[in-house]
Amino acid sequence: MVKVVTTTAELISARLQEKQPVGFVPTMGNLHAGHISLLETALKKFSSVYFSIFVNPKQFGPNEDFNRYPRTLKDDINLIEELLQKFPGSHVTVYAPKDPAEVFPEGKGQTVSVQGLSEMLEGAIRPGHFDGVTTVVYRLFELIKPEKAYFGLKDYQQYVVIKQMVKDLLLPIEVVGLPIIRETSGLALSSRNQYLTPEQKEVSLILSKSLKEVTGILSGERKNLEKANLRIKELLQDKNWNYLEIRDALTLDTNTTNSKNVTILAVYQLGSTRLLDNMQTELQ
Ligand code: AMP
Repeated sequence: MVKVVTTTAELISARLQEKQPVGFVPTMGNLHAGHISLLETALKKFSSVYFSIFVNPKQFGPNEDFNRYPRTLKDDINLIEELLQKFPGSHVTVYAPKDPAEVFPEGKGQTVSVQGLSEMLEGAIRPGHFDGVTTVVYRLFELIKPEKAYFGLKDYQQYVVIKQMVKDLLLPIEVVGLPIIRETSGLALSSRNQYLTPEQKEVSLILSKSLKEVTGILSGERKNLEKANLRIKELLQDKNWNYLEIRDALTLDTNTTNSKNVTILAVYQLGSTRLLDNMQTELQ
């Protein structure tokens, strides 16, 4: 059963009635198979899962796509209902605030911030973005108090930042990161892919192809880091890259000489659409 709540009062009241631990999946809606994979994993563990659909104004910069971000609540609920047929007896509480003031009644209010990790890579290009993310996720964690919260590794830096926030604030919540769901072409699913023209979609394949190529050059060998970085230098001749970098998978440190796992993080920009992707690999 899907229950939709649109006010924070209703959310609190639903949560108070739970007798068992719950899982949580935060999203901005316009659901696709990536989001659904998070929910499916959560439903395998919990018979009650909270699922938020909230286009959070705090994580958008002044010239970003907050107003045009796709809002498709009806279709989203249909997808959740369809998935729930595989889980008879389970229920999903969708928290879809009808107004940002439900989440941020005090307007500007308090900010939750993870320093350092929030300022590099995406954070350097989108100042304040991760503060917006951590502020809303902290608030949702406090309201829902899940045992586990599920995030996609698609937004790898976001995953690392949230994990750090939970550590810093000693929150009793396990942050679970789940694999990226891709189209057969390799393009990672994203609500923003629909902004692409057919031509741009064709060009966008360079993103996953390059990540695959760099991962291939590394082929799990630390000694290949230099070779991989040289190839990255060549690829970066294409000015559509916002960044393409090999970082330590845990700390996002640029120094990877002793890293056990590395993540290659990239953003490729087509027009005003920024496409995010990454791949992880272990080094021997
Ligand atoms: P969003 O609605 O874009 O904020 O994403 C909500 C959650 O879904 C985040 O944890 C994302 O990382 C995750 N997500 C988005 N796209 C994908 C994907 N292609 N595969 C797996 N998870 C995803």
